[in-house]
Amino acid sequence: MSCVFVARATPVEPRARLASSRRGTRSLSRPSAAPKVRASYAMAPTVLAAAPPVPIMVNDLTGKMGRAVAESVVGRDKSQCFLVPVAFSGSAKPAVDVGGVVVEIKSIREDAGAALEDLKKRYPGMIVVDYTLPAAVNHNAELYVKHNTPFVMGTTGGDRTKLLTDVTAAKLAAVIAPQMGKQVVAFQAAMKLMAENFPGAFKGYTLEVTESHQTSKVDTSGTAKAIVQSFNDLGCGFDIKDVTLVRDVPTQLEKMNVPEEFLLGHAYHTYKLKSPDNTVFFEFQHNVCGRSIYAEGTVDAALFLSAKVTGGGETVYDMIDVLKEGGMVTN
Ligand code: NAD
Repeated sequence: MSCVFVARATPVEPRARLASSRRGTRSLSRPSAAPKVRASYAMAPTVLAAAPPVPIMVNDLTGKMGRAVAESVVGRDKSQCFLVPVAFSGSAKPAVDVGGVVVEIKSIREDAGAALEDLKKRYPGMIVVDYTLPAAVNHNAELYVKHNTPFVMGTTGGDRTKLLTDVTAAKLAAVIAPQMGKQVVAFQAAMKLMAENFPGAFKGYTLEVTESHQTSKVDTSGTAKAIVQSFNDLGCGFDIKDVTLVRDVPTQLEKMNVPEEFLLGHAYHTYKLKSPDNTVFFEFQHNVCGRSIYAEGTVDAALFLSAKVTGGGETVYDMIDVLKEGGMVTN
């Protein structure tokens, strides 16, 4: 079995978004360190609503992920969402043009609270997306919490326990997820479900794991770690230290077949399983080039969050929650 996920930007069909009064869901991937958020919720019927387009503010769209998200926002049908023409960065910068939208770049260190209040008045229902730096995660979240602005946190790192505690205590709605690639998250969740339902199904099998990322990434991929955990629960007994990390360009080009234009931004993962008597082989693969899979997932998360806020949602969600309402999103 081999499955390859290749990121691509696809135009989307105009559609009404789904609004739901469901207040949240239990997540498969909620970190165990997270404070207890509502574990179960009364399910109310999902209804179709002709919602106005969602204003999305992207901080910081001069960074790589922020730019990709901003491009995905302007690439969506105008009935779904639009890009707020103001963004926060670490410092004030010249305005940038994203698909014809000229975005003013303000310093988050100078009167950001007042600017946020003003934007909320000008763009009712605004959702903030954050792709900044690990060191900025908690400070930025405190700003969004203080000004009661629902947000999607794609930035990794920072103090995650504090992040979840702050948002939960404020009863603010937010999507927080270190992996916004919906299809990758779905694969990860499916492997986890398999391990939970069929523990030991691959007992005795040997596992080989190879992952390739841009040379600047030093650590083992978090996704690989999560998938390996599921394979171990299935009986493999694999040491995460044995993952083959490919970070050299010649191997990426010649052996992994990474396209040259994606050497600086790719995430390739291959998991090979072999039976004890060498007669049965399985192979799972997910190869992502570029950032559009994360950017599109982020916009879907923002639309999801907007529907939750409209329905009174006030809790922390992740990409499993977004996936569970797949009917409202695209790609
Ligand atoms: P980047 O360095 O290209 O961009 C970061 C930007 O943030 C820079 O433009 C910087 O000026 C700006 N910045 C710094 N401090 C800021 C602050 N206090 N407020 C606002 N802006 C500030 O980095 P990137 O490649 O875009 O990655 C950003 C983050 O997204 C990283 O944490 C990365 O791990 C994460 N990421 C997450 C996913 C996901 O699926 N959730 C996918 C890819 C990357």
